[in-house]
Amino acid sequence: MARRMIFPLERMNSVKHPRSGVIDMEVDCVICRTRLYVSDASIDAVLTSLRQTGAAILICTCGQAQVVRLIG
Ligand SMILES: [Zn+2]
Repeated sequence: MARRMIFPLERMNSVKHPRSGVIDMEVDCVICRTRLYVSDASIDAVLTSLRQTGAAILICTCGQAQVVRLIG
């Protein structure tokens, strides 16, 4: 079962496409505490999901799926 985290609206609005190719989501995996990053290729889908449904799923490198819910 996916763990849940919250994702502040102002943070989503500040997410920009970086030069590095990955976006720092500024949240840590609830299992292994690894910082979660989303690839530049995937960020549009994540942000669209957050905007349309208020939630998105991030998968950690450890395999833990985490639901991030938009607040604010
Ligand atoms: Zn993890």
